[in-house]
Amino acid sequence: MDTFRETAKQLRVLIPPVWPVTTRRLKMEDHGDCSLIKESKAGPHFIIRVNKELDEVAQVLVLIHEWAHALSWGSESHRIRNHGPEWGIAMSRVWQALNED
Ligand SMILES: [Zn+2]
Repeated sequence: MDTFRETAKQLRVLIPPVWPVTTRRLKMEDHGDCSLIKESKAGPHFIIRVNKELDEVAQVLVLIHEWAHALSWGSESHRIRNHGPEWGIAMSRVWQALNED
């Protein structure tokens, strides 16, 4: 079973951010990142990128970390500090949602 895909699926159902989230696994320098794409034919959405060279457990942890960014940003990404209080609260909501299941 693909834990990464399974976790992304659960997150979309249990704790969706204000815009849809697309996930990508690719080779990159960082562990991962999250961006809000506002100008798009498909409408606003988040893209979460995860380094595919990490092992699967690490990929899932990065996904959760980045999901908390999407969740805390809402449509006001520029107002929310990375890893500040809003992100911390989002992170705990993600953990809670995944562990209640
Ligand atoms: Zn971060």
